[in-house]
Amino acid sequence: MTRRGDAGFNGSMTDLLAQKDAYLKEFEATVTAVDREAGAAAEPPTAIALDRTAFFPGGGGQPHDLGWIAEIPVVRVKRQGEWIWHWLRGAQAAAPPTDPPGGPLVEGVKVKGRIDWQRRYRLMRTHTAFHILCGVVWRDYQAQVTGGNMEELRGRMDFEFETLRGELVHEIEEKINAEVGAARPVQVRFLPREEAFKIRDLIRTKINLLPPQIQEVRIVEIEGLDLQADGGTHVANTSEVGRIRISGYKSKGRINKRIELTLES
Ligand SMILES: [Zn+2]
Repeated sequence: MTRRGDAGFNGSMTDLLAQKDAYLKEFEATVTAVDREAGAAAEPPTAIALDRTAFFPGGGGQPHDLGWIAEIPVVRVKRQGEWIWHWLRGAQAAAPPTDPPGGPLVEGVKVKGRIDWQRRYRLMRTHTAFHILCGVVWRDYQAQVTGGNMEELRGRMDFEFETLRGELVHEIEEKINAEVGAARPVQVRFLPREEAFKIRDLIRTKINLLPPQIQEVRIVEIEGLDLQADGGTHVANTSEVGRIRISGYKSKGRINKRIELTLES
């Protein structure tokens, strides 16, 4: 592999456009690195890195985006160290529309990217639904989240929630839908590490586990309900989430309980 620092590029970090604007669907960028060796053995054949990207690379239980770069389908996106790699389907065979048109996809070329917005928006709604659930469960039952995972319009979240019983599930479902109905704004801001560490509400989300090199913390707040250090994408208002159904509940032991959510398309 000749990825890191390939062709003399001492890259700066890819500018993650989705962290500042989750509603950005299209963007222009410059190719900063190309990996042709990935294609030798396995699908997909080629991965590229860009100076800026609107693609979410996955993390915090939210899957990576899909979409297109230079009209070539992007089949996988992943963060590796300071790099965000976009795997392209069949990039070597195709003649990608570059700027100028018809050029090869090499370092320095300008490209247009577009994310699969239907998928992303569904993930933003699902992700926000889980913040609502976290916020309600903490506010009303003082139970902490331990982990979670989501797909489009569905997912699961685990809690240290000893008192959760099947009978409570209906009550929680009503409460989270009330928060959707309350149309609470969802805000994103960046805080210096020391300042973020002073926020009591963030301590419960294990902010202290953040690696020391992260000097700026991205805070996602559902006004009046939930506050988390978080790199994912969310909708701007809880009303965009739509009706949430608790589609499953499992007791994973005396303390650990799992709640599954489903959203309407
Ligand atoms: Zn989040």
